[in-house]
Amino acid sequence: MKMKKDIVIVGTGISGLFAALNLPKNKDILIITKSDVESSDSFLAQGGICVMRDEDDYQSYFEDTMKAGHYENRKESVEIMIRSSREIINDLIGYGVEFEKKDGNFAYTREGAHSRPRILYHKDITGKEITNKLLEQVKKLKNVTIAEYTTMIDVLEENGKCAGIVAENETEKNIKIYADYTILATGGIGGRYRNSTNFPHLTGDAIEISRKHGVKLENLDYVQIHPTTLYSKKPGRRFLISESVRGEGAVLYNKNRERFVNELLPRDVVTKEICGQMEKDETDYVWLSMEHIGRETILKHFPNIYQHCLEEGYDVTRECIPVVPAQHYFMGGIWVDSDSRTSMERLFAIGETSCNGVHGANRLASNSLLESLVFSKRAAEKIKRLYEEERV
Ligand SMILES: Cc1cc2nc3c(=O)[nH]c(=O)nc-3n(C[C@H](O)[C@H](O)[C@H](O)COP(=O)(O)OP(=O)(O)OC[C@H]3O[C@@H](n4cnc5c(N)ncnc54)[C@H](O)[C@@H]3O)c2cc1C
Repeated sequence: MKMKKDIVIVGTGISGLFAALNLPKNKDILIITKSDVESSDSFLAQGGICVMRDEDDYQSYFEDTMKAGHYENRKESVEIMIRSSREIINDLIGYGVEFEKKDGNFAYTREGAHSRPRILYHKDITGKEITNKLLEQVKKLKNVTIAEYTTMIDVLEENGKCAGIVAENETEKNIKIYADYTILATGGIGGRYRNSTNFPHLTGDAIEISRKHGVKLENLDYVQIHPTTLYSKKPGRRFLISESVRGEGAVLYNKNRERFVNELLPRDVVTKEICGQMEKDETDYVWLSMEHIGRETILKHFPNIYQHCLEEGYDVTRECIPVVPAQHYFMGGIWVDSDSRTSMERLFAIGETSCNGVHGANRLASNSLLESLVFSKRAAEKIKRLYEEERV
């Protein structure tokens, strides 16, 4: 089976949807997803999305991002992300996204390695709030078609350029989708791990396919382990206990209920300390206490975490929960320039599958939703300019 589209986007997470919204409305666009539209990590994001609060915040936000990334970040990308953050938040608000407010102003929360509160949030379901609103908008676009349960299995390469993708679904095993431009937005790699917070169908397919075609990849060994997921003996996706609970005052205890680490250090440092403590204690988890946060704040700010833990038998307002580190985020991926272009002509990559260098060796909490949005908009704008140049 063969078809021709102007642009094909692989992935219906935050980056794929935002690209579709920013691409020219006169182009015929197809977005495919391996699963249903709501099964993407974007729906799972709890903590929030960073924004530069004001000009005075620039230097400290830049330094926090660089320090968390062990100064291996691409400075140009970090600068672009921070400088674009207010515009992106305004775009989201324009699409109907609601962020928590206090006395009529935005309420900002804090997570590990941030030197000040600069994270906007919607309860503890920020990703769902943003992605749902974007999805509603995309569904209104007449030029965009969404195909669920359709998996990219290859890209079409002609004379070294990308000419589209090959996909399959339940009935068709070889669907050739030709397109002027292809955007890979396939998310992370957690499906390859036994313990991960990611959806299991996110297996880094675009990275594997890119490797096969000699597309440049970067930092494939930079994998972020989240320090705190709810310990469970059951198989499957690990439930994240957002870092913002520690930002709001939750503390970590060893088996004797003694604190052993500054909970607001960067993720990789806290993870290392927890693993060391588990080894010392000969346990499979450490304890996290949210009791200091207070019942009212827990129910208002973390209703999803509260409910999930309750279903697992823990009332976080009055008892500790067992937590363990798990694979969470992939800093490496398909190398892209600051307009999200890969090393193959006509092929773009955005979101977690791409590596524009923002995160360096370790991602600062709540930078990934922002990074995905900033660089997917830049990809869309670049494609728009390329179409205009072709017309001249
Ligand atoms: C539990 C959790 C909490 C998080 N909390 C935060 C947070 O608070 N703040 C923050 O900034 N970040 C957070 N993150 C990270 C952030 O959510 C992700 O990095 C971001 O949403 C990735 O978006 P994406 O568009 O790149 O990919 P995703 O949203 O994961 O979407 C990937 C899409 O690609 C599709 N796909 C994959 N392979 C194929 C294929 N072969 N063919 C067709 N389709 C395919 C999938 O079906 C899916 O639609 C969190 C992540 C997790 C897992």
